[in-house]
Amino acid sequence: MLAALGWALWAWYARRRIERAVTQHACKACGASFADDAIAEPLGGIRAADRQRLDNFQRRFARHRVRCGDCGAVNVVTADGVPFAAWYD
Ligand SMILES: [Zn+2]
Repeated sequence: MLAALGWALWAWYARRRIERAVTQHACKACGASFADDAIAEPLGGIRAADRQRLDNFQRRFARHRVRCGDCGAVNVVTADGVPFAAWYD
């Protein structure tokens, strides 16, 4: 029970941290700034289908996906919240 609570807290904290970090960057597809909280929608972690779009080097750094509220592109983000690839799905 306590472990589950701890994990939930950690997951929430990690997600919050990425959301804040990503606001300092811009969409890789359209260049819109993520400075406004409303513009970046977190989509969660990288899935197998996403990994197939990335090369080996990019896969090492891909941690999260964020949707651009401006153009709708899916941005691939590092553990530090830096977007480095984007596509439209
Ligand atoms: Zn965009």
